[in-house]
Amino acid sequence: METLCKRILEEGRALSSTVLKVDSFLNHQVDPKLMYEIGTDFKNYFKDRGITKIFTIESSGIAPTVMTAMQMDLPMVTLKKQKGRNLDGDVYQTTVHSFTKGSDYELTLSAKYITKEDNILIIDDFLANGEAALGAARLVEEAGAKVAGIGIVIEKSFQPGHDMIMSKGYDLYSLARISKLEEGLIEFVK
Ligand code: 5GP
Repeated sequence: METLCKRILEEGRALSSTVLKVDSFLNHQVDPKLMYEIGTDFKNYFKDRGITKIFTIESSGIAPTVMTAMQMDLPMVTLKKQKGRNLDGDVYQTTVHSFTKGSDYELTLSAKYITKEDNILIIDDFLANGEAALGAARLVEEAGAKVAGIGIVIEKSFQPGHDMIMSKGYDLYSLARISKLEEGLIEFVK
């Protein structure tokens, strides 16, 4: 997606060879018009696939996902990151290792918001090791529903997530694919 790549080049900051900061339009301040365009791109790719709901992971996945859900006229569910196991029942949970925080959390979905008939699109802001997206896919499948695809705003293609998701046979669609990061340098997959 050209507009997104341009914004990443203009405003993104590679903090290291693995972490990209895009706080001015996605992760802190949010550009609603860009989020809307992102929603249009996801809609065009994932339309006509019988998708019933869109899942995302709190919190930076919410802005692009709500714009996609609105344009696809679908409900959206935010998967929560909880510190510990929920013992109340009626939830699906899976342990995920956070790329940015370096610690584990329990990705949590209330059983109220999924049925076996659901065909779920998963959207997240970044793809690094694939922990968050694959954790979301595990929850969907644990509930007996199907994963229709995985949409990512910014994929760091040089990290393991891309290959892990492809090897599991999911339909992965990433709007910007970064091949290399270094302080002061951002390169995209050609
Ligand atoms: P993964 O689970 O694929 O290892 O990492 C994806 C999650 O970590 C995303 O939900 C995102 O919040 C965060 N993340 C991974 N890499 C980056 C990055 O370079 N920049 C930012 N801002 N977040 C990242």
